[in-house]
Amino acid sequence: MATDRTPLPLLQIRDLHVAYDGVRAVRGIDLELGAGELVCLIGANGAGKTSTLHALAGIQPIAAGEIRYAGERIDALPAHERVRRGIALVPEGRGIFARLTVEENLRMGAYSRSDRAGVEADLERVHALLPRMRERLQQVAGTLSGGEQQMLAIGRALLCRPRLLLLDEPSMGLAPQLVEKVFTVIQDIAREGVALLLVEQNARLALELAARGYVMDTGRITLAGRGADLLADPRVRAAYLGEAP
Ligand code: ATP
Repeated sequence: MATDRTPLPLLQIRDLHVAYDGVRAVRGIDLELGAGELVCLIGANGAGKTSTLHALAGIQPIAAGEIRYAGERIDALPAHERVRRGIALVPEGRGIFARLTVEENLRMGAYSRSDRAGVEADLERVHALLPRMRERLQQVAGTLSGGEQQMLAIGRALLCRPRLLLLDEPSMGLAPQLVEKVFTVIQDIAREGVALLLVEQNARLALELAARGYVMDTGRITLAGRGADLLADPRVRAAYLGEAP
């Protein structure tokens, strides 16, 4: 039977607040993301973007508000339970284990999984997505270049078979050609149906890539819309794309 109900978004954030010892970093934001959607969150340093991702991943408690994922409240769940449900964070600075090999790092991403065959299949999938990683499986991760470390961090997150990937500043510190490569991989992941919430300082690249975007300023969402519309918005151009108003 046909129904006119629109499907629930994969992620729904309502009136989210995050504070550090009373200092309010996120001040009541609303944000939605559909299954398989690529959405970016842009804004200046200190706007509260990382705090939002940490609240979603469960590594920073929320001060108020609601986070719903796949229709259920998750804001009180521990981080590992959110990983088990398919929420993976690729942190700013990558967080790879420098003394472990590439393969050991990748397998860490699957630590909570017991489906061995599924893990091996996902390793193959990551190798197909990131062919350079296969050549470097036994290399110590700390000796990889910055771009390769970023790829490794993304690969490790994919090993927990996410439905929602949270990416914090993947272009940080990378040369332009490497940024392009990382963004190509992000697009490939989105094509596979994984939803992505991308936090980026490089607003132009992020808005070109994302279907929709949110602009954050001092803890609040100040603008939201289609990536292409935000890219054309004079306020975004003046504040985040370095253009004179
Ligand atoms: P950046 O791009 O610089 O990481 P951001 O938009 O991700 O910026 P957040 O890192 O979320 O912003 O920071 C938001 C505010 O919260 C800032 O004022 C920051 O100083 C503060 N803050 C972030 N983490 C902590 C912390 N662990 N303890 C205290 N204050 C913090």
